Amino acid sequence: MSLQRRIEGLRARIQSACEAAGRDPVTIELLPVSKKQPTALIREAASLGFTRFGENYVQEGADKAAAAPELSFVLLGPLQRNKAKPALQAFTELQSLDRPELAARLRRLAEDLDVVRPVWIQVDLWDEATKLGGCTETDLPALIEALGGDARLPLRGFMAIPPPEDAGAFVQMATLRDRLQQDLGQPLRLSMGMSDDLEAAIAAGSDQIRIGTAFFGERTR
Ligand SMILES: *Cc1c(COP(=O)(O)O)cnc(C)c1O
Repeated sequence: MSLQRRIEGLRARIQSACEAAGRDPVTIELLPVSKKQPTALIREAASLGFTRFGENYVQEGADKAAAAPELSFVLLGPLQRNKAKPALQAFTELQSLDRPELAARLRRLAEDLDVVRPVWIQVDLWDEATKLGGCTETDLPALIEALGGDARLPLRGFMAIPPPEDAGAFVQMATLRDRLQQDLGQPLRLSMGMSDDLEAAIAAGSDQIRIGTAFFGERTR
């Protein structure tokens, strides 16, 4: 199937999920996840109007960012401390913030490098932390505190990978977002939903869905 056909199929899924939820499709960002996909395919997506792409691995994302400097790349998934600097250099946004030490290190480095990088806190309410990364609800205040409202790392919102097939988990995440939005007095977005569960995510109130396979096809490398 061509890229264009897959994207049309996705748009149709987003459209019906929005109709069911009484939401406007333009309020939902479709972030293509290009990990393990060749740069040529990313360029094809760019020719169809996409300018931001999610990547999981720092080196792979840095290589792609160097090859396609006109596009921007968002880091998803766990970030090791020793990769913090190349991550800040290659990615325009980081969705991998999940612990205070990482926040402190990113703040120091962002100042040294003189860059501004919006960040999303990855939350894990379901104890899958070992595998996928993410901050527990209990540890969230300390992490937000460590971020300290730093203007170089503005907090965009929360990223989560709720257990698939558990609609309640998506709602739980949306409730947490609503509460923190109130507490912090700023708009906070919610990034959840992947190829197989974008409907549940949209129903619960996700603002950004991160789509790999249903967008690009099976990963090749
Ligand atoms: C790979 C990945 C995605 C996309 O997954 P698909 O199931 O291929 O849509 C989304 N978010 C994260 C964090 C990922 O690692």
